[in-house]
Amino acid sequence: MATPSLKIDHARYVLTVDSERRIIQDGAVLVENGRISRVGKAVELADARADRVIDGRHLVVTPGFFNGHMHISYAHPVRGIFPDEQASPLVHVFNLQSAMTEEEEYHTTLLGLVELIRNGTVCFLDPGSTKFPDACLQAYEDSGIRVILGEGVTDQEAPWALPRFPAGEAIARTASFLAKWNGRLGGRIRAWAMPFSPETCSAELLQALKRMVDEHHTGLTLHHNSGAKARQDSLARHGHSPTAYLESIGVVGPNVLLAHCLGLDDAEVDCIARTRTAVAMCPVTAAKSGRGVPEHGRMPELLARGVKIALGCDSPNNSNHLDIVRAMNMAAIQYKDARQDLRQVPAEAALEMATRHGAEALGQGDELGSIEVGKKADLVCFDTLRPEWQALWNPVNNLVYSADGRSVHTVVIDGRVVVSAYRQTFVDEPRLYAKVQEIGERLQARTGIRFPRSRWPMS
Ligand SMILES: [Zn+2]
Repeated sequence: MATPSLKIDHARYVLTVDSERRIIQDGAVLVENGRISRVGKAVELADARADRVIDGRHLVVTPGFFNGHMHISYAHPVRGIFPDEQASPLVHVFNLQSAMTEEEEYHTTLLGLVELIRNGTVCFLDPGSTKFPDACLQAYEDSGIRVILGEGVTDQEAPWALPRFPAGEAIARTASFLAKWNGRLGGRIRAWAMPFSPETCSAELLQALKRMVDEHHTGLTLHHNSGAKARQDSLARHGHSPTAYLESIGVVGPNVLLAHCLGLDDAEVDCIARTRTAVAMCPVTAAKSGRGVPEHGRMPELLARGVKIALGCDSPNNSNHLDIVRAMNMAAIQYKDARQDLRQVPAEAALEMATRHGAEALGQGDELGSIEVGKKADLVCFDTLRPEWQALWNPVNNLVYSADGRSVHTVVIDGRVVVSAYRQTFVDEPRLYAKVQEIGERLQARTGIRFPRSRWPMS
């Protein structure tokens, strides 16, 4: 069935993020067969008719947002249980994750999707958290979102309860995952290889998975620890820095997405740029967990070298929210403070990472990431009839420095309206919220993982 045509008419601003970065006042966008067929001034599109017309007079239209590192699964039902000073919650994280049942993961995924979509995310990469993709398929289908999935694998000892298999089995499992999932839901699902990290995977496993994604024209993502400690360990084990080690075994390139990447040295920045390897950075997670961005953050150097960076939210227990607008805000402000230099990471660069460059980092830049004729129609409309959007002179500044995802009014994915006037229609939210709260209670009781509910007396 053909997707009905759609016109957003008289938009107050259209932030195209196209090759010229045009910002169109009193703009219009026409969507036909799921793709953008015309973009321009409203007067230029006055003759364009559509099945549905959205009055854009109070809307700012942007490309849909990409979330390049977003663990969806265990965290929603236990969001906020870790005290601020919990130095490393990872042991608890993976114990909770491994205790999730299929039914629990379906509902917590639904909640994740509601939060992602209502904040304007059109595509997210789950770095191998989802244990029951078959159970979650209905949620992906109903929500209309794009998702990059994979089975998280390791073949080495790890301090946490990660899924571990002999290398041959990890390779076979990844091959069958790609065969089963890549391209489903009309291409909205992409399947990638997802080895957890270089520390928990052998070179043999990493190399085999890289060859596999080269052959299948898909991608590979892994957690990339850098910094002094990781460098020391990597030098001792491999005689290379963490990034040079990956290059030495051939696990770099445009279809490799390195997550976090804090603490890169100059040679590592050069390696990533030279090999056109992509990066996903989670600025709110980095700040909230005290990772020392002033000392370890290299986003400005990576941007200066043209590296494609996607922003991520990590999980509801890392950044604690799934809002790329807030991630843009943090990216744009944290480096100004860290470097005491107001030229660092302009608001426009933050918006590029959330859209055009994020799409490129996730291997979808040809089809997505900007409002240009021929691209798939993934659009976000922000409601400017709100105090944080007043007064409005520079819409990029209002978006990055004043707004957050709560002013997302309309979301379009593949030409289909999935959020309209703030509402999604694929799930009953109050019922879902009660369900997820109950899952959180069950999960804590079952695992015995509990923390004091509050530093303040709660009666
Ligand atoms: Zn992660």
